[in-house]
Order: sequence, then C-alpha cells, then structure tokens
Amino acid sequence: MPKARNLALRKAVVATYRRMNELGINQGTSGNVSARIENGFLISPSGVAYDTLQPEQVVEMDLEGGYFGEWKPSTEWRMHMDIFRTRPEAGGIIHVHANHATSLSCLRREIPAFHYMIGVTGGSSLRCAEYATYGTPELSENMLKALEDRRACLLANHGFICFAETLDAVLALAVEIETLCKQYVIARQVGQPCILDDEEMAVVLERFKGYGKQDMETDPLAPIRRG
Ligand code: 13P
Ligand code: ZN
Repeated sequence: MPKARNLALRKAVVATYRRMNELGINQGTSGNVSARIENGFLISPSGVAYDTLQPEQVVEMDLEGGYFGEWKPSTEWRMHMDIFRTRPEAGGIIHVHANHATSLSCLRREIPAFHYMIGVTGGSSLRCAEYATYGTPELSENMLKALEDRRACLLANHGFICFAETLDAVLALAVEIETLCKQYVIARQVGQPCILDDEEMAVVLERFKGYGKQDMETDPLAPIRRG
C-alpha cells in the first residue's frame, strides 16, 4: 500500500504543514501543502488539525485525480494537481489563508511592484485570480491564468497559493509573500507607495538569478575578494 511509500517525504509534508501554522501564515485547518513524487504527488488530507496530522494521513495522488488509501485529500487537490501537471519546475506547493494576503485578496486587486521583493513571484506583480468557489475546477482554472509567468498568486476572497522546487523553498516563499502583503497594507495605510517600473523590475529579476549563490564571478557589482 502507498502508506509505507515515500515515508521521508510524508514526514516532510507534515513538518511543512505544522510550520505553516507556527510561522503565523495559516490557522485552523485552512491551507494545504503538497510535494511531487514520480507520476503524482503527496498532499495534506482534508480538514485535519495541524497538531494531529500523522505521516500516514498524507494522501498519495496521481496526476489524473486518483487517490490512494482511506484519507480524503485536501479539497484543493485540483489546484495542486493542475500546477504539477503544467509547471514541471514545481516540486512543492503551499496554499494558505495568511491574514494580510487574504485581506488583500478580498480587494480582488493585483499587488504592484511597490517593493523590489515582489520579484519573488517571478514577475513584476502579485496577481489575484478571479473568484470561484473553493475546491472547484473553476478556481483552478482562474489560478492557472493568474500564475502565468509567476510562481505565486492571490485567490480572490480566499488566500494565496505558491510553488517552488522544494518544500523548504516553497515555505520560504510563502512567508515572503505574506510579509510583502503585510508591508503593502502598512504602506497603503500611510500613503500611496511609489511603484517600480517594468524596466527596474527586469533588472531586479536578472539580479535574482545570482542571488544567494556563492559564486559571484559573473556579478559586475560583486566586491573584490582580497584573500
Ligand atoms: P482542506 O482542509 O480541504 O485542505 O481545505 C482547506 C482550504 O484552505 C480550502 O481552500
Ligand atoms: Zn483555502
């Protein structure tokens, strides 16, 4: 049975699910997390409390909507499946109802490049997918549209979803998205933020390619190593 399969990754899914709540980017049984496996993915079960989730309850799914075992997958399995099907670079996916991002999602507006870190979305804005009822194919369709050239988007009147190559990377991205939304809310409370133009964001996105890499040889702005 798939229960015993991918035990290490099941444990990583559970750990990520818990961290989402501990980090304050999610609450209750809202939100879900998944990780790619060969020909499918592992996903958190529907409606299970964060502190009680066990690795055996993580659900294995294929890429045609089939699932294995006695636990029902997250109601948002279709959004996760559609990302894994269409975005080969996705290894981990997180969907949460983080407070600031969710508040902004209720405005149904794109978040512009008020800060250069908006580039973590893969582009110059954090789009908001059109509203559809949670767990529906329509929501997934709207999400895919908002994710074009992006790895994160708001979901209208709901929250946000994002993906990255690994579970660790997607958790870090989710924290960053909520942080940006919090900063945008604060900036909007005191004024109208200046928006970085597409030209500047193109420079930022180019610099992001080398960010965090120790090999700085190709960076014309790198400091000179003396010893
Ligand atoms: P699940 O518990 O089914 O994953 O649902 C939570 C959620 O966020 C629905 O959008
Ligand atoms: Zn949700």
